[in-house]
Amino acid sequence: MASSTIELAAPDVIAKYEVVIGLEVHVQLATNTKIFCSCPTSFGAPPNTNVCPVCLGLPGALPVMNRRAVELGSQAAISLHCNVNPFSRMARKNYFYPDLPKGYQISQFDQPLAEHGFLDITVTPEGEPAYKKRVGITRLHLEDDAGKSLHDGSFKDMDRYTYIDLNRSGTPLAEIVSEPDMRSSDEAVAYLTELKQVMQYINASTCDMEKGHLRADANVSVRLKGAEKLGTRAEVKNLNSFRFLKAAIEFEVARQVAIVEAGGKIHQETRLYDTESGETVGMRSKEQAHDYRYFPEPDLVPVRVSEKWREQLRAELPELPFDRRARFINDYGLREYDAQVLTATRDMSDYYEQAAKASEDPKGTANFVMGDLMGALKGEGKEISESPVPPEHMGELATLIKRGEISGKLAKEIFVKMFAEGTRPSVIMERDGLKQISDTGAIEKIIDEVLAANPKQVEQYKSGKTAVAGFLVGQVMKLSKGQANPGTVNEMLAKKLA
Ligand code: ADP
Ligand code: MG
Ligand code: ZN
Repeated sequence: MASSTIELAAPDVIAKYEVVIGLEVHVQLATNTKIFCSCPTSFGAPPNTNVCPVCLGLPGALPVMNRRAVELGSQAAISLHCNVNPFSRMARKNYFYPDLPKGYQISQFDQPLAEHGFLDITVTPEGEPAYKKRVGITRLHLEDDAGKSLHDGSFKDMDRYTYIDLNRSGTPLAEIVSEPDMRSSDEAVAYLTELKQVMQYINASTCDMEKGHLRADANVSVRLKGAEKLGTRAEVKNLNSFRFLKAAIEFEVARQVAIVEAGGKIHQETRLYDTESGETVGMRSKEQAHDYRYFPEPDLVPVRVSEKWREQLRAELPELPFDRRARFINDYGLREYDAQVLTATRDMSDYYEQAAKASEDPKGTANFVMGDLMGALKGEGKEISESPVPPEHMGELATLIKRGEISGKLAKEIFVKMFAEGTRPSVIMERDGLKQISDTGAIEKIIDEVLAANPKQVEQYKSGKTAVAGFLVGQVMKLSKGQANPGTVNEMLAKKLA
């Protein structure tokens, strides 16, 4: 399939152009059963076993709308600030494909479930400052998925077989169409990242990309910087990883710029990304809507979402990741970046929230969660939900530092034991004698010992070589087995030597 004859523009030429991207994202809704029948949506069953006359597209079978699919689709739409239409309608999109036995897809056309939303994204291009931007969402509509074709052998082989598995046929999808608002592959990646996060927070979808539960089509065009008219777009279908999305867009941009620079024309077409060659390959010239002969689906009643139902669905939604991030920054004094890390998943943000609530130092708690805890979990290949350290213990650890009962160094030592044993930090501190000594009497005794044992250094200090204080502090810390409060030691030593 690879054709390395495609000409690509050089970066300095590409720099003269503006990239325009709109994404169409398919999200598999997390229902137990399919969108128009009661077959299970479970993954991994033997081929063609989760099927019935409806999802096999047998003549005369009647589809019935899955209420849960409408609910999850509406909640997804509300979370993306879309208006959920009180009245929407399914439509037949007619085309032939071997894994589409009905001969049409049941989708939505002129009356989609929801419209006019937006998603705010934070873009972090490599080596450049992060920035925020708003991406418009044109619409969100419901549709059924097709089956799967499994190709065995290459196009050149005479004995090439294609197998059809219809287990996926009729799985509910929400298609989320963005405005052509993105201007780089980084923005597209940031948009898909945020979208995935939102869908996962509200449990609308697992968004498991390896299983195809989240797939993006990237519409890409280029125009000279400053030009008003949008260029002609090519659509790269079915990108199922962030890496492929970025690579496919960047390839597409270089390909299109080379064509335009050579005086050629971009054809509106559908392309595929070949993960092996890293190139996009033309698949077919773009169908126009009228090629599909859309018409209202006669076998299904229109979808009505009453205001009451819609508001009920809105009320059921959890706090969304962008709201939670803003609150973490406000309430706990976190930096933007830290808030992003700690809200990456709902489990992570729930964990941190509980830890912060149990803590007198939410910011310090954040540092321990992001540093020591995440490092230790990663080392054991564990998720935050499997953490042997309950969140309250992390909160307590930061509290102990804040209160001066332990130093940061002792805390790290205690953390290792917390992670291994699941024991409270205060218990480990007392049990193993890892308490910080802040008692000035006890520290004074140690300082006096150190000063008596090091008359030469004391002499040097008094003659103006104050840098030697570092050595003396070190000796005090050593003698206290690391338990003396370093702040107190510094202070008292300076007074003694003055
Ligand atoms: P279709 O069903 O033909 O793919 P849609 O209107 O549903 O058409 O989706 C078109 C997608 O392409 C949208 O995400 C839109 O933002 C994007 N798009 C439209 N025009 C351009 C363009 N000139 N360059 C890049 N993307 C575009
Ligand atoms: Mg499209
Ligand atoms: Zn079925």
